[in-house]
Amino acid sequence: MNPLSSKNRPALIDGLRQQTFDLIVIGGGITGAGVALDAASRGLNVALVEKDDFGAGTSSKSTKLIHGGLRYLKQFEIKLVKEVGRERAIVHRLAPHLVVPEKMLLPLVKGGTYGPLATRAGLWVYDVLAGVTGADKRQMLNREETLKKEPLLSPEGLLGGGYYAEYRTDDARLTIENIKTATDYGASCINYVQAEDFIYNDEGKVSGLICRDRLGEQEIQIKSHHVISAAGPWVDTLRKKDKSLSGKHLFLSKGVHIVVPHEKLPLRQSIYFDNDDGRMIFAIPRNRATYIGTTDTPYEGDLNKIPIDLEDVQYLLRATNQMFPDINLEVEDVESSWAGLRPLIHEEGKSASEMSRKDEIFESDSGLVSIAGGKLTGYRKMAERVVDVIADKLAETKKLKKNHTRKIPLAEGKLKNQKEVEAYKQQLHQRLGSYGLDKNDTDYLTANYGTQAEQILDHLSVQDSNDPEQQLILAELEYTMEYEMVNTALDFFNRRSGRLYFNLPSIMPNLDAVLNRMGEKLAWEEERIQQEEKSVKEAISWVSEFTVKEKATS
Ligand code: FAD
Repeated sequence: MNPLSSKNRPALIDGLRQQTFDLIVIGGGITGAGVALDAASRGLNVALVEKDDFGAGTSSKSTKLIHGGLRYLKQFEIKLVKEVGRERAIVHRLAPHLVVPEKMLLPLVKGGTYGPLATRAGLWVYDVLAGVTGADKRQMLNREETLKKEPLLSPEGLLGGGYYAEYRTDDARLTIENIKTATDYGASCINYVQAEDFIYNDEGKVSGLICRDRLGEQEIQIKSHHVISAAGPWVDTLRKKDKSLSGKHLFLSKGVHIVVPHEKLPLRQSIYFDNDDGRMIFAIPRNRATYIGTTDTPYEGDLNKIPIDLEDVQYLLRATNQMFPDINLEVEDVESSWAGLRPLIHEEGKSASEMSRKDEIFESDSGLVSIAGGKLTGYRKMAERVVDVIADKLAETKKLKKNHTRKIPLAEGKLKNQKEVEAYKQQLHQRLGSYGLDKNDTDYLTANYGTQAEQILDHLSVQDSNDPEQQLILAELEYTMEYEMVNTALDFFNRRSGRLYFNLPSIMPNLDAVLNRMGEKLAWEEERIQQEEKSVKEAISWVSEFTVKEKATS
């Protein structure tokens, strides 16, 4: 059985109880997943525990760009821009189907944040820092060229545009592919296991974790020589538990995105545009949808349930309607949305958007090592840095291999570059026709799974439904339960397939079929099926109905 099969859970839990690991990683977001892969590939015996599903924290709620962070240039974050700028190309090479080139158009408008001269200089520096060459190099466009690229832009006050290369991804899928590859290197990764307390040895050093299995409600004690906390917004909660929360601490900033059907905002390409408050917003087409974001506001509420306020939705709609005046988007057009928390390192006197996106490592007297901050884009380097800390501690007892994750492809690694991805897409398209599936389905399958789509196709031919969409959904479900530890219906509809955000209308017509299949495979009682149905319906309401913030009354 595959170690990440949903059915392998009891064996995995036994394994966690029986061994003493070199390293336990707390948190299965992109940072923890990257750390598990880095450490396991250097020869460490690694366990990873995630309290929810892999990627369920910030790592499924970002703008989903693998980008250099053009706006950080304005804050003179040269080192950060250089590092993440260079990482883009590496992560693209590791998973070219999942990290796809995305040209970005930056319209230059009268009175906007970026003037033509500053943009020309900024994009040049951006290219140089990231080592961009060839067709990916930036271009400056005049007004007509800009409107040709995107006719929906408001011509009023438009001066021209900057045109440059970034990459688009699916953050939750990038996370699960890192988890899968870490597992290939022997890591024991499990979701729905929460670290509740630390175990300390006689010298007061962390020597393991007391965890709770949130699906089986049992306690699991795991022994380990070292512990890294990659708990994102929860890093300080764990530092507090370790009694080591002092000095620098996290500042959480909330970012909201909204999704509209593509026909409501039929962009030809991604745009990075100015709002009149001086903030910059992305609008990114993605198959049958276009998504818009983000906001950047301080957050102090429940970390596990981040509300999407009507005010935030209206802010994004207003900004979009200003930039694309013929569109007139309304709240009713918003099909789905999400809100995520940036775990930033607090800096006195700075606003959320001014705070640095640099990562930071904290080491406590007990030996707990925590890593926070940073970007999705820089996850591989963050992992390298924090595993180096553990390698130093182990130097006298264990010789580790050097970091080599830049050479470890994700998701089978059969597709080597964009050209091969396109060729595979073409080939898949021809084969999918006989199942009644179209180009959107081919694009979706290729981007989500790469050549792993072959295993989904094997399941496709044996589904008994007559509806092509349902056949595809059930085939994907079979694959993700077997290879990607899908334990709840939302793991599937949200983090594995992205349907909760990008294809919400496909969920309800297929919910019963998915619940029945999961019930059959995982031997669920009727009560569990009802509970799952309730949580999917609640999630749909959560992303498509918006909260009105209570105003403070004097
Ligand atoms: P998380 O993904 O939050 O992972 C931490 C995990 O730890 C969670 O899954 C949580 O459940 C788990 N956990 C917590 N406590 C425990 C416990 N006690 N036991 C077990 N598990 C626990 N970066 C980019 O590069 N490009 C972008 O386009 C981009 N856009 C962004 C837009 C927004 C709105 C936001 C909020 C961030 C964006 N970022 C972007 C930043 C990026 O998303 C984050 O830096 C990254 O996802 C953080 O990952 P993480 O693994 O550190 O945290």
